[in-house]
Amino acid sequence: MTTVEATYPGSFIAGAQHRNAGDELQVVNPADGRAFASIAAASAADVDTAVQAAAEAQRAWSELAVSKRGEILGRAAHRVEEHLDELIPLLTREQGKTLRDSRIELTKAIDTLMHYVGLSKSLRGAHTPNLDPGVEGYVLRRPLGVVGAIVPWNFPTTLLCNKLAPALVAGNAVVAKPAATTPLTTLRFAELLTEGGLPEGVFNVVTGNGSVAGEALVTHPLVRKIAFTGSTPVGERIMALCASGVKRVTLELGGSDPMIICDDADLAAAASAASMGRFYNCGQACLAIKRVYVFESVAEEVIESVVAKTKRLKVGRGDAEGTQMGPMHTNAQRSEVAGQVSRSVSAGGELLAGGSAPDDADLIDGFFYEPTVVIDPPHDSPMAIEEVFGPALPIWRVADLDEAIAHANASQFGLGSSVWTRDLARAREAANRIEAGYTWINSRTKVYDELPFGGWKSSGYGKEHGEEAFDYYTETKSVVLGAS
Ligand code: NDP
Repeated sequence: MTTVEATYPGSFIAGAQHRNAGDELQVVNPADGRAFASIAAASAADVDTAVQAAAEAQRAWSELAVSKRGEILGRAAHRVEEHLDELIPLLTREQGKTLRDSRIELTKAIDTLMHYVGLSKSLRGAHTPNLDPGVEGYVLRRPLGVVGAIVPWNFPTTLLCNKLAPALVAGNAVVAKPAATTPLTTLRFAELLTEGGLPEGVFNVVTGNGSVAGEALVTHPLVRKIAFTGSTPVGERIMALCASGVKRVTLELGGSDPMIICDDADLAAAASAASMGRFYNCGQACLAIKRVYVFESVAEEVIESVVAKTKRLKVGRGDAEGTQMGPMHTNAQRSEVAGQVSRSVSAGGELLAGGSAPDDADLIDGFFYEPTVVIDPPHDSPMAIEEVFGPALPIWRVADLDEAIAHANASQFGLGSSVWTRDLARAREAANRIEAGYTWINSRTKVYDELPFGGWKSSGYGKEHGEEAFDYYTETKSVVLGAS
């Protein structure tokens, strides 16, 4: 049996740690492949306890003034912020990302909470004064009740807060299930929010596997909505499960974001955005530049610049000074990406950087993979048609904007996209024609809380961020007020 440094009882329910009944799961540091903690997995009965606690707490929470809920959440978020220096290394240890990326992630998660705290004073319905003489109508907004939030391992806290913030401000209670491999930061996050004044039971965390704890949450009769981020196949399964009981569901799923670089673009800025947009978080992001289409006349310059940047990236342990790219999260994830790269190169792509695990002695036990660039793999190869969830970038030469957009849209995914050009007409055309939930024009692929975000096609269903998020955490009711 492996000895670990810490064992965790499992879930966080009604403001306290809760001992789960399931098997012990190990939490592994991706930088050295060693388990450093173990945690008991939640059974269906543990999930039921969490949902009952949430349902109980939700009644009083929903009766508070919206602005009061915002005020409480704001104070609780401040408590999390005070503990950033404790959370950052914990996130790096269980996820693998660099300390810098952990700081960016956690700061963004708190920003999202504060964004919805700010919006709490403007959550409104509607009113129609004269439906008939003396008759008026108004539209009420009511919370849904208990919301289940299911989150993957790549951004455990931001993807949680995208759901938690609008759900709580709208008056719901939440039961979250983090990925089985990244439970620890989420548990501490929940503890800190409770210490900061969030009422017990309003936010609960159940840990464990998707197939047991996740499905128990999705199928629980008291859960009125599932907010899910993860892979497309699991999203499809959850949507099917939600059909029973007609549960509300939002799905943020996979992507294969195209980037189009035209011949009149600021090529240096575009190359830099491609490198950042692909290798950030070791390429393990839903919104990431996963396919580049560059006009032939400027292709050599762009390829040279991207390859040079890729080769300069410093790969290392996330907690080591100067590391720019950490390990991948699991060995299985690394094998999947390595397979996609090697099959795309065998099919005819030209490998110009990376393509294997680094052989440095101090990285050999971790799940590292070199940042990789492949030129012109066939348009039916894995790197063109599948989601590559790791640090490997394919680049294709194209003749013009029409060809670029045709390739961009020849994908089952439609999450993000970007175009680089100084020609406004081309930029508008790309923004109108690319089938995706986001198009950045001459901009890094940064997500803003202010703008609604959600995938087209197999990339998702519904929106997160923006005021629009409230629509997915409330029911509306039309009320007619008669004349007498
Ligand atoms: P998965 O879909 O495998 O897992 C996501 C979460 O769902 C995990 O908590 C997982 O638990 C849980 N889960 C798995 N099976 C079930 C089930 N049957 N019922 C309920 N819950 C279940 O995704 P990955 O972990 O592979 O995450 C990477 C994927 O997420 C990529 O495809 C990526 O594109 C996508 N993603 C999308 C984003 C977006 O906003 N559109 C953002 C980030 C990632 P467990 O850990 O036990 O598997």
